[in-house]
Amino acid sequence: MFQGPSTPYPERLRTFSGFWNEHEATARQLAAIGHVYDRPPLEAIEEGSRCVTCSQFVRRESSIRALEGSLGHRRNQDGDYETGFGGFAFHFPNCERLQVKIPLDPQATLGGLHGGHRIGDLRERWEERSSRTTRSTTSNSEVLQTSPLFSLPTELRLEIYARILPQLDEVTDIVSLHRDSARVCTKTALTKANARDYSKANLLRCCKTIHDEALDILYTNRTYRFGSSKLLYLFLRNIGHHGRQQLRSVDICGPSREDAIAFSLLASCSKLRSLTLRWTRPTLLMPQARPIWVTDSVAALLEISGVHAVEFASDGPDVKSCLKEGSEDAAIVRAQLTRPKGESGSIRWVDGNMDV
Ligand SMILES: [Zn+2]
Repeated sequence: MFQGPSTPYPERLRTFSGFWNEHEATARQLAAIGHVYDRPPLEAIEEGSRCVTCSQFVRRESSIRALEGSLGHRRNQDGDYETGFGGFAFHFPNCERLQVKIPLDPQATLGGLHGGHRIGDLRERWEERSSRTTRSTTSNSEVLQTSPLFSLPTELRLEIYARILPQLDEVTDIVSLHRDSARVCTKTALTKANARDYSKANLLRCCKTIHDEALDILYTNRTYRFGSSKLLYLFLRNIGHHGRQQLRSVDICGPSREDAIAFSLLASCSKLRSLTLRWTRPTLLMPQARPIWVTDSVAALLEISGVHAVEFASDGPDVKSCLKEGSEDAAIVRAQLTRPKGESGSIRWVDGNMDV
């Protein structure tokens, strides 16, 4: 089927279906920025996706590296973050799809990709450590299982981990470490006057069993709150695939030009059960002159599924929001997001309009 410039987000997403199962997170993000998957003929050598508007082609491996790969691997030999996506772009210059922003695109972060990622650095170290312990699991596991720690009931072990790990609030605000930076941290850590204590996270490096059990604590019964979808996106990239599969609850402000890609990545978080939306637009879709990023922002939001609790909040009494409890838009959003995981939505998009 011909995929033209007006191909809506759900249709773009469907072109990847069944072919990118291992890389669902990348496929969703590609659809968000306007790409479709070209199923290659058997004799084709290169496999990848192309933009429905400017036809820019990007190889599959390049997309996976740029949209899903570890942020730590983006550093060059000097330890600085690489700018760009390693010599390619998802669009030709002036493509109108560029209005949907990718936060790690140097143009979007204004060259702020230098320095170390706090959460990313820690995750990288945990993963490096846990992959090392995975390799030596056979010899270690017997030793571990004889440890008195593992003779305790699981809930007691979790209680011990909770006391050792850094204390996080039930609602933890994630903020940017520096303005225009890709680094994120908790608001509490940013405002702490004393030197930050990273030793508490050493627990996660003990062994893979403890790592997996304890990491769960960071996400269970905890809501992560973001002032923008750009911060949400950077957080989701920093916590990596494993973290994204643990994330349960998110509180997010919108709308913004990073919504489409951030919501697409959020849709790949399989355990997401609670979502609070703070929306500052009086209508879900503007009445006329609908830019691509607005339509795609809403379409990507409505592709999220399997959420149990959808709440609508506001940052102040004067905030005009279409997503207020009792409103028609709120009912549509809740109905779509709470459908069973993986079930197709009931919204059809015709020329940028929502057909409920
Ligand atoms: Zn393009």
